[in-house]
Amino acid sequence: MSEHLPGCEKVLLVQAELDGELDAAQAAALETHRAGCPTCQAAQEELLRTRALLRAEPYETTPDDVRARVMARLRQVEPQLAPAAASRPRRDWAWLRGPSFGFGVGAVCTAALSFLLLLPARNDLVDAIVADHIRALQPGHLEDVVSTDQHTVKPWFDGRIDFAPPVRDFAAEGFPLKGGRLDYLANRPVAALVYQRDKHIIDLYVWPASGAGVHLAGDTAMQGYNVVHWTADGMNFWAVSDVERSQLDEFVALWKKAP
Ligand SMILES: [Zn+2]
Repeated sequence: MSEHLPGCEKVLLVQAELDGELDAAQAAALETHRAGCPTCQAAQEELLRTRALLRAEPYETTPDDVRARVMARLRQVEPQLAPAAASRPRRDWAWLRGPSFGFGVGAVCTAALSFLLLLPARNDLVDAIVADHIRALQPGHLEDVVSTDQHTVKPWFDGRIDFAPPVRDFAAEGFPLKGGRLDYLANRPVAALVYQRDKHIIDLYVWPASGAGVHLAGDTAMQGYNVVHWTADGMNFWAVSDVERSQLDEFVALWKKAP
């Protein structure tokens, strides 16, 4: 594959096509364009390859290997990422940066994150939540505000996000609050609450349910991570962790019982 391909704004359409967002006429026009555009051909190949990798069954047998590769890719692209508290959508990143568009590892990373964060459908949302969780586990990325005090974490979100996420500490029940951060999921800023269970981290993503278009049955395991979704009091909740499923269920039950 060529080291340097020219930039092409239509790579975004390639991604949109894979996400099922193009109508027949748009798809046909893109196909015509792509036939003569090596950049868009390469983008499609990379997106398909990355998507296949992240959804591959081999997670069952080589989770550490695959997880390491995903983390390595996310780490590669990290310098390009906006700060976690960025207010602009991540889908704007990096695709079109610079006159040359190298399709090395960096472009794979960009492709992976870019498609992960577009989120038109449930699987992509779960993908994105797991990817965000993995990214957050890297040193220095877990919390924007570090506190075990819910009365510190909750006000921290004031003015940083357009809703007031509920924040609770379950230290007495074995799930101490560690802090919080801002993230971007489902095409909007979301609150991420960080909990610890023994050596495991639980991320709890919270955002208003209204208008989010996400009404999904909740419970999934992906890439060795358990993901549980529920809605309550007008909020979407997504909990993700590599703790055992029974422990994540215990955590979710505490939230559902909380006043
Ligand atoms: Zn093109």
